[in-house]
Amino acid sequence: MRTKIIKGHRPEHIKRSNRLTILMELWNEKFLSVSELSIKSGLSHTTIHKCLLFLKSQKLIVSIGHGDSSEEGGKPPEIYQINDSREYFLTIHISSSKINVGIFSVRPILLGSLKKNYSYSDSLKTIWDIVIDLTDKIILDNKIDKKNIKRISVALPGLVNHSLGIWILNPWRPDWGKNINVISEITKKLNINCDVIVDNEFRFIAQASKKKDCLEKEKNFVLFGAGEGLGSGIISEGKLKRGSHFFSGEIGHMIIEPNVNFSCACGGVGCFESLLLIPRVIEKIVTLKNQFPSSILSNLELKSITIQKLFEAWNSNDQLAVKVMEEIVEWFSRAISNLIVTIDPDAIFIYGIYTEAGDLFLKRLRNRIQSVFYSEFPKEIHIRFSKLDELSALWGGAYNLTERLIEDINFEENK
Ligand SMILES: [Zn+2]
Repeated sequence: MRTKIIKGHRPEHIKRSNRLTILMELWNEKFLSVSELSIKSGLSHTTIHKCLLFLKSQKLIVSIGHGDSSEEGGKPPEIYQINDSREYFLTIHISSSKINVGIFSVRPILLGSLKKNYSYSDSLKTIWDIVIDLTDKIILDNKIDKKNIKRISVALPGLVNHSLGIWILNPWRPDWGKNINVISEITKKLNINCDVIVDNEFRFIAQASKKKDCLEKEKNFVLFGAGEGLGSGIISEGKLKRGSHFFSGEIGHMIIEPNVNFSCACGGVGCFESLLLIPRVIEKIVTLKNQFPSSILSNLELKSITIQKLFEAWNSNDQLAVKVMEEIVEWFSRAISNLIVTIDPDAIFIYGIYTEAGDLFLKRLRNRIQSVFYSEFPKEIHIRFSKLDELSALWGGAYNLTERLIEDINFEENK
C-alpha cells in the first residue's frame, strides 16, 4: 500500500498524517497492538489511541480482542486490524473472448472469482447479461449483501475514456457501437449505485504488475500483454500513463511490418496486433509445411496445430518452428525497441501467451534487441516474464479501488 506524503505543519496536517500513518501500518500487517504500532510509527501511545478512535469511527479498523501474552507484565494488549468487511469491491474484466468477475475485501483480498467464455458472434447485450449472471452468482456464493458493494472496476479491451467511464471503441467489435457509457450501463443493469472506474484492461493489469512484478527501484516500466489481443500499460515514475486522448499503451496498433497484404481491425496496415493474431500464425505454419516436411508441425492435423505446439517445437529446434518464431521475435524486438526510445523504462514485463514460449523467447528477444539497438542501452533494461495470471485485471481493479477508498476518507475530520 502506497503511503501518501503529507506536507505542512498545521495541526490538521499533523492529525491527518498520524491517522494515515497508523492506517497504513495496519494495512501492511495482519494485526498489531498499540505498542507494536508505536514501535513502527514512532508515535506516542496517546496519539495512537486518538488515531485508532478516529479509524474505528470510520469503520476502517476493528479490534479483534486481546493478545495471548501481556506486554511488560501488564494486561494483555488489545489487537487491531483492518476492517476487511467494511465494504466489498466488485471487479469485472471483459476480454476479447471471456468475462471474469471477482469479489474483493478492502485490503484487498480475493474472496472469489467466476469466468465465462463468449463467442465472436455474441452481441453486447449477451455480454451484459453474462456480467449480470456472474455478478448475481458471485454475490450469492460469497453471501454478500449487494448494498455492501460500494465500488466497481471494469476492465475493457480497446479505447477507453477513463475520466468519463466511456468505452470509446472496441476495434474488434465495431458492431457493439461507439462511446458506450459503461458507468451508467453497469449501475443500471446491476442495480448498484456506487463508485465505478473504467479503463483499458492492460492499464489495470499494469497496476497489478506494479505490485507483483516490480522490484523496488523499478519506477518506469511497460507491461506488455500479448495473447488474444495486444496492448500495454505504461507506468512512468510510478504513475499510470493514459495520454491526452487515451491512446497511451495502444502498442497493438504500432506499425511494425507495413509491407503486408492484410489490414488490422483498426483499418491500419502492418499493426503489431494484426501480425500476431493466433489464426494468422497458424496460417503461416500451414503455408510453410511443404518446405519443412520433416517438421513435427507438418505432421499435425490442422485442428491440432496450436500456439503451444509451436512453442514446444521451437524449444526442440524444429526448423519450421524456428522460421515462424524468428519472425515473431523480430516483430517483438522492433516493438520493444520503439518503446525503449520513447519511454526509456527500467523494465519490460511480458504477459500472456508468449510467457509459455519459455526462456528461449526472452533470450532470443534480448539478443535481437541488442543486435539492432545501441550496444550499451538495452543491457540496463530488464525484460522479464510477468508473474501475473488471468485474474490480473481483477487484481489491478481492486488495488485501484483500495486507493480510492482511502482517498475518499476525510482524515482531517474532528472525531
Ligand atoms: Zn491496428
